[in-house]
Amino acid sequence: MIDLHAHTTASDGSLSPNELIELASKIGLSAIGVTDHDTTAGLPPALSAGKERNVEVVPGIELSVRYPSGRCHLLGYFIQHDNVKLNGRLEEVLENRRRRNDRLVQRLQELGIPITLEMALQEAGGEVLARPHFALAMVRLGVVSNPQEAFDRYLGEEAAAYVPKDKIGFEEGISLIHDAGGLAVLAHPLTLKLSVSELADRIPEMKRQGLDGIEALYNRHQPEDNRAFSQIARDFGLVITGGSDFHGAGKPGVQLGEVVNEKPLDNEILRKLREKLLSGQGAVVPG
Ligand code: AMP
Ligand code: ZN
Ligand code: FE
Ligand code: FE
Repeated sequence: MIDLHAHTTASDGSLSPNELIELASKIGLSAIGVTDHDTTAGLPPALSAGKERNVEVVPGIELSVRYPSGRCHLLGYFIQHDNVKLNGRLEEVLENRRRRNDRLVQRLQELGIPITLEMALQEAGGEVLARPHFALAMVRLGVVSNPQEAFDRYLGEEAAAYVPKDKIGFEEGISLIHDAGGLAVLAHPLTLKLSVSELADRIPEMKRQGLDGIEALYNRHQPEDNRAFSQIARDFGLVITGGSDFHGAGKPGVQLGEVVNEKPLDNEILRKLREKLLSGQGAVVPG
């Protein structure tokens, strides 16, 4: 049994890479995709913990990319975590994020909230400081009663202190993943805010840009979503992946390994993903 989408403290998860793999082992996962947002920093410790505990760690990443509608995330699987080009671009993204966080603190202070960058840093385990960390800091400050209220009133896209962030382009994201030897998969397709038929219309273009797969099976999907996205994947020759998007305490209600109907995925999904990797042009076989 496997789960191909999980976060650690390297981005906005609440478990360290080691703790995540420990949990994966405890609940009996044979493989886990470690897919932190815009960083590969959690992969070396996750890979060594995986070796120790006999859990296969699929080295991954989740890139936030530009898209005309909704929110678009690309998952990269079997990436080389030390790829120079990928990590160089991620360093730029991180630098942009630092500038954005400074502006975010400024806006919140202008709105009368006595928050500092240090307070948000206290909530983060790694170097990626994201809006959920600000939300937690605001709860601790007592200016909101829960993280969702912080998003609704201050941090969400339509809210008072929202600062947009610089993102990698869609096609660029796919290229970065491919250059790092990985496969590029469209994460949780519902967040694109397209109907199933609108998405189907966009897939040929995404395939031309190099997309390899769709995360058709996802913790927050209804059974009909799983079916519809799996059908799209089959129609267009894309590989199907699935995951819980586990974040630990940062995303209450989502348990590691709960992908479809509160159950983990079958190992067959990973076998097909690997098959796609081996058949892909120029893709590098993971060592
Ligand atoms: P950032 O990368 O700093 O823009 O933060 C993105 C993260 O914030 C997402 O992964 C979500 O976990 C969270 N998020 C974004 N928008 C909302 C929202 N409206 N309500 C709750 N959480 C949100
Ligand atoms: Zn996240
Ligand atoms: Fe995501
Ligand atoms: Fe995620």
